Amino acid sequence: MTKNNDLMEKIVSLCKRRGFVYPSSEIYGGFANIYDFGPLGSLLAKNIRDIWIKKMVQEKDDVYLIDGSILMHPKAWEASGHTVAFTDPLIQCPACKKRFRADKLEGWQLKKDNQTGQWEVIKQGSLVCPDCKGNLIPTVKEFNLLMTTEVGSVAGEKSKVYLKGESCQNIYLNFLPFRDTMTAKFPFGMAQIGKAFRNEITLGKFLFKVREFEQMDIEYFCAPEKSDNLYEEWKKIRYNWYVEEMGLSTERLRWRQHPPEERIFYAKDAWDIEYKFFDDFEELEGVHNRSDYDLKQQGKFSGKTLDYFDPIDKKRFVPYIIECSGGLQRTFFAVLVESYREEVIKDEKRIFLKIKPSLAPYKAAVFPLVANKPELTNKAKSIFDSLKPEFMVIWDDIGNIGKRYRRQDEIGTPWCITVDYQTLEDNTVTIRDRDTMKQERIKIDEITEYIREKLK
Ligand code: ATP
Repeated sequence: MTKNNDLMEKIVSLCKRRGFVYPSSEIYGGFANIYDFGPLGSLLAKNIRDIWIKKMVQEKDDVYLIDGSILMHPKAWEASGHTVAFTDPLIQCPACKKRFRADKLEGWQLKKDNQTGQWEVIKQGSLVCPDCKGNLIPTVKEFNLLMTTEVGSVAGEKSKVYLKGESCQNIYLNFLPFRDTMTAKFPFGMAQIGKAFRNEITLGKFLFKVREFEQMDIEYFCAPEKSDNLYEEWKKIRYNWYVEEMGLSTERLRWRQHPPEERIFYAKDAWDIEYKFFDDFEELEGVHNRSDYDLKQQGKFSGKTLDYFDPIDKKRFVPYIIECSGGLQRTFFAVLVESYREEVIKDEKRIFLKIKPSLAPYKAAVFPLVANKPELTNKAKSIFDSLKPEFMVIWDDIGNIGKRYRRQDEIGTPWCITVDYQTLEDNTVTIRDRDTMKQERIKIDEITEYIREKLK
């Protein structure tokens, strides 16, 4: 990811300059690997979430949305293995005190025992600190990524709890109430967009590796013998979602199967959808056949039986789970990488985001040709107000039209509507397309339908 610094820097700069992403707590010097979405970023993130819910829940017959809490009973994390096995191999530089993931240092090869969380060094690599160039001591420590906090109001009686290390866990815990209350036909899925927290060691990958993020998860419960076919179906659904809905190109997407040494011991199969952010392909989403391990583990630790009785086959079994777990921040970042464009027009650089209109923070911008003519601004304002109930639109009357177009291009607004003197005569406006920069004249009455049609 670090090789193509140029594009990465341009995107980071655009994100800050145009209110997509702000480093958290910047007035205090920032807070490592934590970011806030600004006004534009919040809208883009919301559009990604909405499209995910529309496609994965609303347009499916068998997937149900839940919204679980961040704090859960700490035993759930013992059952899942996170308290012991959710580790990264840590090396700390004695001189500059910076921490590194040993498996990411040059020349190192390590292997993790997925049950104990212990890392074995297969091959020791460079001992030069990538930061201060001092000597590293080759002692690898297991570093648990779970974040903790405390609950309880009586001093001295607080108990340690974990912030969700992965969002999906409360789907497993809600399997039982869901099964007993929802009369859902088997097989079915539960979907959730939720926060996850990880004490990541790796720094400096912008939104790709953050300590607080959102996961978009589907856990699809099915009979063990049906899981192979359903797994293939979900792989297709999820890959197509990135192409068709997020607009990611197939040249920058690929599948990677977990080799046996990486695959968690209970998984039947595990593939990741990877995206070529810059020079390297990196994970966007894991689509895994997790067998019946999750429900069995939570059943064992809670003393409950998390199973399903099939009334047709008259069989009782613990369902297998097909898990599709993608990250909102990584998807957001990939959408920006995919859509960032620069071109030179009449010796001037034009930056634009060729983002799918359904994802664009604002669907249209409305301008009066000049800001100081009430007859133009009033007319433009009435158009702006009429569009607001249906579309997220933005008003701009600062600077000349050319500058306004550039500002909208940079934030990916697909259509700019200008009210000019001709509007006062014939009730038409110009509507300018972000990608072709072509303008056409349409009637004011047709604007809503024009945008609706294009958004289809
Ligand atoms: P990686 O090893 O690439 O950091 P992972 O295998 O730990 O990812 P999972 O536990 O499978 O990731 O989480 C599912 C998804 O959650 C990932 O595919 C990714 O999109 C997202 N995700 C995981 N960790 C982070 C993080 N630190 N920052 C942003 N997104 C993350």
